[in-house]
Amino acid sequence: MFFKQIQRHSDNFSYIIADEDNKEAAVVDSSYNADELIKILKQEKLKLKYIINTHGHSDHTAGNTELVSDFAAKLVMHKQSKNPHDLSVDDGDILRVGKIFIKIIYTPGHTADSICLLVDNQKLLTGDTLFIGECGRTDLPGGNAKKMYESLFGKLLKLEDGVEVYPGHDYGIKPSSTIGEQRKTNYTLKPRSLHDFLDFMSQP
Ligand SMILES: [Zn+2]
Repeated sequence: MFFKQIQRHSDNFSYIIADEDNKEAAVVDSSYNADELIKILKQEKLKLKYIINTHGHSDHTAGNTELVSDFAAKLVMHKQSKNPHDLSVDDGDILRVGKIFIKIIYTPGHTADSICLLVDNQKLLTGDTLFIGECGRTDLPGGNAKKMYESLFGKLLKLEDGVEVYPGHDYGIKPSSTIGEQRKTNYTLKPRSLHDFLDFMSQP
């Protein structure tokens, strides 16, 4: 698998996932100014099939239009997204990029349209739901701390310890981690009741 994490403007991460044999590719979170992504896609002779957004915030979606006009790719977002898109997905849906399986995990909390992507059961792209050492904020429009609790504890922490974590921003001490390491070291993932988690998230 071709897999590239690309540091973008300020601290956003974009990702390129591709099948090295048939050259099909997906971009996850175009962020601002898609030039750098377009350059890599062309260099590697990749055929962009999907542009997948982990959620609708503009720091993740701003390069979409540029990418769509350069490649005839489909824009993929969760079905609750109010941003324009071609393909609506929901929890459990699977996208194919060559031989690669990308499973959609619906993880509302940061926004109502937040998704995480599980790539070949091995790499988890977490957008603004889970960062290295942090979780996403829930105080923006569409944010919901109770849903964040269910997404983190009911879904992401149910994954195996060996699953690698690739966040939407470079907020941590390193750019990626694993579920097992985050389970042990991320203070937002300490075992808490829902009540305690809501208290914790409401603290400034
Ligand atoms: Zn966001």
